[in-house]
Formats: sequence, C-alpha cells, structure tokens
Amino acid sequence: MRLVLATHNPHKVAEFQQIVAQVRPDITIIGYDGPEPVEDGITFAANALLKARAAAAHTGLTALADDSGICVDVLGGSPGVFSAYWAGQRKDATANLELLLDQLRDIADPYRVAHFTSTIALVSPAGVEHVVEGIWPGRLAHRPSGSGGFGYDPIFIPDGQPEGAERTVGEFTADEKQAQSHRARAFVNLASLLTKL
Ligand code: IMP
Repeated sequence: MRLVLATHNPHKVAEFQQIVAQVRPDITIIGYDGPEPVEDGITFAANALLKARAAAAHTGLTALADDSGICVDVLGGSPGVFSAYWAGQRKDATANLELLLDQLRDIADPYRVAHFTSTIALVSPAGVEHVVEGIWPGRLAHRPSGSGGFGYDPIFIPDGQPEGAERTVGEFTADEKQAQSHRARAFVNLASLLTKL
C-alpha cells in the first residue's frame, strides 16, 4: 500500500517513513509534488485536512498531512496556526521568536504556560478522514538558549524536567527531542490509526 505525504519537505518524508515502517512495513510513504492549497484554515486540523485532501484528490492515493505550531495560554492560544509567520509573511524564525518574547516581556513564569501542537490528517480518495494530535506541554523562557532544533525551540522549556536543571528544547539533543516532542506524540496516535487501515 502507498500513502502520499502532503509536504515538499524531504525531512518530513523521512521522519514519517521511519514511523510508518515501525508499525506498517507494508506501507510506502511517497513525497508529493503537486499543487499546494492556500492554508487558510483557522485550526491546525483544518489546515492539515486542507493539505491532505488536496494531495488525495491530486494523486488518487490516501494522503497524510501535518500542521503544527506553538500555543501560548496568556495569548489565548496564539501564535497557533500563525506560528510560522507570527512576525510577518517573510517567515523569519528569529523575528517570530523575538516578537513573542517581547510580547511576554513583563509576564512572570507561572503565566508563561505554552504547548507545541502537532496535528496529522489522513484522507482517503473516497473521502474517509481521520485527525490525530500530539501536545507537548511546557512554558516559555525569558530569553533564547541553545542552538538545536528550529523555530521556537530555543525558548520552549518542556514540563517534567528536574527543578533547577531545566533546559529549552534548543539545548536538547536531537534524540531527546525526537523521543518526546509533539510530533512524536502525534506519531503514537497515528501508529494506532495505521494499524487499523
Ligand atoms: P509547520 O508544521 O512546518 O507548518 O510548522 C509551523 C511552525 O510552527 C514552524 O514554522 C515553527 O515556527 C513552529 N513549530 C512547529 N513545530 C516546531 C518545533 O518542533 N520546534 C519549534 N517550532 C516549531
């Protein structure tokens, strides 16, 4: 069986390939080079579904798509679906992160609660649709630290770390991040969905 992954990002294809191989070695993930829809959904699920539906319609194959971002409680869940271009359409990751820190400059630790979300949609050409989600809870640091990962990683401190030795995801190794990220958590839910396909 072949599944198309609605992304032009080869890193994502490799990541999905790895997770699918663990649970369904009979499924091959292929990349997508067709037209991409405008991501005008107002939720992660809506955007993931938009992308998966477009790829299923274009290829005639069952399609997977993901959408992700960071949600800050005191900002009512923003940046949310606007995470990639919070500081403008130029999609500058450093500017996004600096704007978010500036907005929260006077906010104390207990109110800096945030989480990463990863939402994955699976859509068949016949129109059967599933959505799974992974959440990584934590809070925002006051300044960036670490150079690992990407996007908001240098300012996100995941929950569950020893007190006094907390690190941002920017200070995590790639393996540490991969073991507990929002994407890893969404993959667990995707795996149970794939076993039922
Ligand atoms: P997308 O899933 O590639 O559309 O990502 C949307 C945006 O959310 C990215 O551009 C980042 O700003 C942010 N984001 C999503 N996942 C992560 C992550 O694992 N670390 C840091 N930022 C992330």
